[in-house]
Amino acid sequence: MLRLPAALGLLGLLATATAADAAPRVVVLDPGHGGSNTGAKGVALHEKQLTLVIAKLVAERLRAKAVAVRLTRDDDRTLTLRQRVAIADRVPADLFVSIHANASLARNQRGYETFILTPRGLDVDGRALRADVATTRPGVDPEIVAILDDIERGSSQWEAADLAARIQRALRERRGATGDRGVRQDAHHVLLGATMPAVLVEIGFLDHPIEGKQLATSEVQSQIADAIAEAILEQLAE
Ligand SMILES: [Zn+2]
Repeated sequence: MLRLPAALGLLGLLATATAADAAPRVVVLDPGHGGSNTGAKGVALHEKQLTLVIAKLVAERLRAKAVAVRLTRDDDRTLTLRQRVAIADRVPADLFVSIHANASLARNQRGYETFILTPRGLDVDGRALRADVATTRPGVDPEIVAILDDIERGSSQWEAADLAARIQRALRERRGATGDRGVRQDAHHVLLGATMPAVLVEIGFLDHPIEGKQLATSEVQSQIADAIAEAILEQLAE
């Protein structure tokens, strides 16, 4: 139950959050895997190598448009999911984009898909708001913190869905419609503790005999980076 003085405090905090919207936007790019965590093994290169190449290309493109970018890693190192989220929270990021590549058991799958990363406590539509992961906000009533976190997560889900759709569309324009596996959301893609819009893009199948080789070419890497950067820029312009 929200008491009146608490409600007034909440309005004040929301006003502060709105004023902060004018600040420069920061994108955190997260090259999947790294170090001892190789990820999917490909016909030409492994996931941890490709994700870093793509993330650096996307970063170049965004920085050329005056967008601030942080990478969770810019070399071959091992990072836990928790460490990646902590970086995004600390920045704090306006958008979080994790970059991965796929492999399939039968080695016959190909194409690209984007997952909406779900903070724990939300259902697929961002409605079941439970604040079981509260962000640290010094000096603020924990009850208010929980409500603010819920509001942020709810709107973040919509933004993440928008961004995911934009990434798929931009990839479709460059990589062809047959590879479009769509926007996905499932219980395994949980980004614990993050409040910003967050997506995970699987850019293609490294172990597919044709696509795996394409993904190792600078031409296709540029196409993918162009697509992801374009989608992010569109989202930031919203
Ligand atoms: Zn991966």
